[in-house]
Amino acid sequence: MTTEHRRAPRRKVVSVDKVGKWGQVQYLHVLECGHTESRKRVARTDEIACAWCLRTDSRNDDIRSLGTPLTAYDDGPSLVDEEIKIEKIRATLAARFGVPTDAVGLSVEDAAGSLVVKNCVIYLSSSDVTRLTSPR
Ligand SMILES: [Zn+2]
Repeated sequence: MTTEHRRAPRRKVVSVDKVGKWGQVQYLHVLECGHTESRKRVARTDEIACAWCLRTDSRNDDIRSLGTPLTAYDDGPSLVDEEIKIEKIRATLAARFGVPTDAVGLSVEDAAGSLVVKNCVIYLSSSDVTRLTSPR
């Protein structure tokens, strides 16, 4: 649970999607707001905090404060689908490296309504490095 999650609004879980192989499984919780939160375990409550709603809110606030024409970021189903796609990529990478999803820094670009991964930085702790470099 990050500070971000404590401040985030709670949303109903609509469905749970399991990704990753055994031992490195991530559960993608699709929420009523259309966002997807990935967790290492299935949430035991009907509602979980949605960090995306919080991020979207602050992004929209940023845009308003810039005085540019108002564009809501989480409008329309296509961008939501794109966010789910990106979250699946994040969860798959996290599962492959055996790190938390927070450790996967995806740089994403909006290419005409389609989100495209530009690059990705994966943060490895010293124990991750030891685990990944030690002979099997
Ligand atoms: Zn949300």
